[in-house]
Amino acid sequence: EEHMLRSDKLRVIGELASGMAHEIRNPLTTVKGFLQISKANGYNIENWYSLIMEEIDRMSDLTGEFLQFSKPHSIDFRVYSLHECVLRVIALMESEATRFGHQIHYKEATEPVLVLMDQDKMIQLLLNLVKNACEAMEENGVVHMQLTSDTKSVTVVIADNGPGIPNEQLEKIFHPFFTTKESGTGLGLSICYKIVQDHQGTLEVESELGTGTRFIITFPLAQ
Ligand code: ADP
Ligand code: MG
Repeated sequence: EEHMLRSDKLRVIGELASGMAHEIRNPLTTVKGFLQISKANGYNIENWYSLIMEEIDRMSDLTGEFLQFSKPHSIDFRVYSLHECVLRVIALMESEATRFGHQIHYKEATEPVLVLMDQDKMIQLLLNLVKNACEAMEENGVVHMQLTSDTKSVTVVIADNGPGIPNEQLEKIFHPFFTTKESGTGLGLSICYKIVQDHQGTLEVESELGTGTRFIITFPLAQ
């Protein structure tokens, strides 16, 4: 069974690697084309500077996020409070949210919310979702974060009042490289999905056009 899991993992990484190669070849082709045209015509490279920088940034984002997949499976799971993770994510996102004119509202749980987790990955998961919410909303949006728990599990909700996701896109948003953003990587949500799986959790999305989007994540409570 170990062997199956490993080969399954290798297959997924193989699929991602080929998608990745494809995603990187396009900006590389663009950059190379710019440079060739500049040289052939004696153009000043400065004309292409920002375009080339954008393409290089995109490749850099892609490789950076891709590393999250290939990192070895962490065996360093410990019991932490999910509340602390949310506070950390809010602190990390505050300046970016303010830049968009957004606010982050947080409703804490009344019970302890201890989860067996890889804390860095948990923070990355929440960060990705809050970031997407901020990017989706027009100015002066509100991201609602909420923690609730019962005897067995803890639920995190991250909701926004953005434009919502069209039905035909809902199933695709977790696919690697699916993006509707001009300079998106399309890797954020597939990383989220993997992190939730690694924590024996569930991840659901509800969205309504013109109203907003909610991501609902549930984890087993630590004993
Ligand atoms: P990226 O952010 O690089 O586009 P993601 O995997 O994080 O990649 O998201 C994939 C796509 O899912 C986004 O491009 C967007 O179309 C859609 N999406 C994700 N979160 C939201 C949200 N909160 N509201 C609207 N659309 C969203
Ligand atoms: Mg994203």
